Amino acid sequence: MSEHFDVIVIGGGPGGYVAAIRCAQLGLATACIDDRTDAEGNPSLGGTCLNVGCIPSKALLDSSEQYHRLVHQFPAHGIQAEGVSMDVGRMQARKEEIVAGLTGGIATLFKANKVAPIFGRGRLMTDKNVAVLDPASGELRQTISAHNIILAPGSVPVELPAVPFDGKLIVDSTGALNFEEVPARLGVIGAGVVGLELGSVWRRLGSEVVLLEALEDFLVAADTHVSREAARQFRKQGLDIRLGAMVDKVSTTAGGLQLEYTQKGESQQVEVDRVVVAVGRRPATDGLLAADSGVSTDTRGFIEVDGHCRTAEDGVWAIGDAVRGPMLAHKSSEEGVAVAERIAGQPGHVDFNLVPWVIYTSPEVAWVGETEHQLKSDGVPVRSGMFPFAATGRAKAMEEPVGLVKIIAHGETDRVLGVHMVGPHVSELIAECVVAMAFHASSEDLARIVHAHPTLSEAVHEAALAVDKRAIHKFG
Ligand code: FAD
Ligand code: AMP
Repeated sequence: MSEHFDVIVIGGGPGGYVAAIRCAQLGLATACIDDRTDAEGNPSLGGTCLNVGCIPSKALLDSSEQYHRLVHQFPAHGIQAEGVSMDVGRMQARKEEIVAGLTGGIATLFKANKVAPIFGRGRLMTDKNVAVLDPASGELRQTISAHNIILAPGSVPVELPAVPFDGKLIVDSTGALNFEEVPARLGVIGAGVVGLELGSVWRRLGSEVVLLEALEDFLVAADTHVSREAARQFRKQGLDIRLGAMVDKVSTTAGGLQLEYTQKGESQQVEVDRVVVAVGRRPATDGLLAADSGVSTDTRGFIEVDGHCRTAEDGVWAIGDAVRGPMLAHKSSEEGVAVAERIAGQPGHVDFNLVPWVIYTSPEVAWVGETEHQLKSDGVPVRSGMFPFAATGRAKAMEEPVGLVKIIAHGETDRVLGVHMVGPHVSELIAECVVAMAFHASSEDLARIVHAHPTLSEAVHEAALAVDKRAIHKFG
């Protein structure tokens, strides 16, 4: 007899581990299978996010930003530091300590909630049986079954056939998080979220960074006012962003690596020492589903689900990066919670229109809801208001008077339909706007709410006032 659970979760990332904990909280006997190990080969829960994604990237972004501030921003405050140096080894060790603490924390949470962790590679068989395979050898270790299965296998980096990874000089995001020294010249292919964050880390530490982006426009998902201002700020920092640049080839030269790309129909080259390929991620569904599992994937490997994360097989659910929607940790986790609650007979819910996006560069970029361009092309009447951080006392006092907040409201009802920001700490400021939109606030509601002075949140307040052309600290 195979061991039986109420719920088996395959994947221990922010989708899977959160789903498992919520299932256990709801009284369901739950197991979570994950195949990830740390550098020593020990099981390491938390998925891409904790091990090689959100957390280590934010650790390096913070270290590099502190260094950059000390060198470039502190003199404006009158602080002079001499003999400043960066110990990349120490920076990496700190990152590893943070990752180890957090991944170990998930194991502790599993224990406290009585989730059974199973180390191995899960494969969904027929009738909600799951084969657990040895991740290295592929050998079958055990077969377990459950009333409900939650598939949360996450995603892996996309490889460019023209620029194959070699794990040393040509790397994916994981490789770029582990550089042991600052590359003199770094080529980043793809100026999306991951390319911009990792490019920023190494730029701040001294690399000459060139970003090659195939699309003609920068940050297409963001509102134009925000993406334009972000591009301006990033270029001022020395990030060499080349748009409309489709990379076709890499070759080794005496001095390093030569990237060949096509821009406006012309062939161009750039020589670098290392290359980070950051052209997106694909679902990690290879080998996950037996032919008779009853679950299907689309042509790109995404598990097919409905709006409630149900697959075609009764009692089998799928969440996170491996299903449609943005590849974001919080989107995965909220789907995990909603599915656990649905399994327990509760009305789990995720509002996919209100998933905030954040890019943790400096300045940060954040948005929620629609862009003005999208709304106008859908024929929605809009009114928008913008306010620059340079006009807030707090941003000036912080020596970070860059960026803006833009609020877009319905032209007739005034309901807020989108908020877009670039500037200091906007990763935190966006939360107020998500809450406002979740409660169907109008721009007038935001404008009438008292915001503390002097805070960065005054830029949100003033942008809301600007929708009605009555911002106080803005002319023109
Ligand atoms: P994952 O986190 O990928 O977890 C899936 C887990 O399942 C993995 O451990 C995998 O090894 C395991 N697995 C897969 N198949 C099997 C199987 N068959 N059997 C057993 N185990 C299996 N998102 C944000 O929201 N904010 C950020 O700041 C952010 N920064 C990022 C920075 C980088 C460099 C990268 C690469 C990503 C970043 N992301 C960020 C994206 C975020 O990491 C993902 O959206 C999130 O991890 C997805 O969660 P998930 O649970 O769906 O999958
Ligand atoms: P993201 O999906 O946010 O990680 O962004 C990946 C980025 O890589 C997207 O903006 C793509 O347009 C870009 N991209 C994909 N393929 C190429 C390529 N061959 N050369 C340059 N950029 C690319």
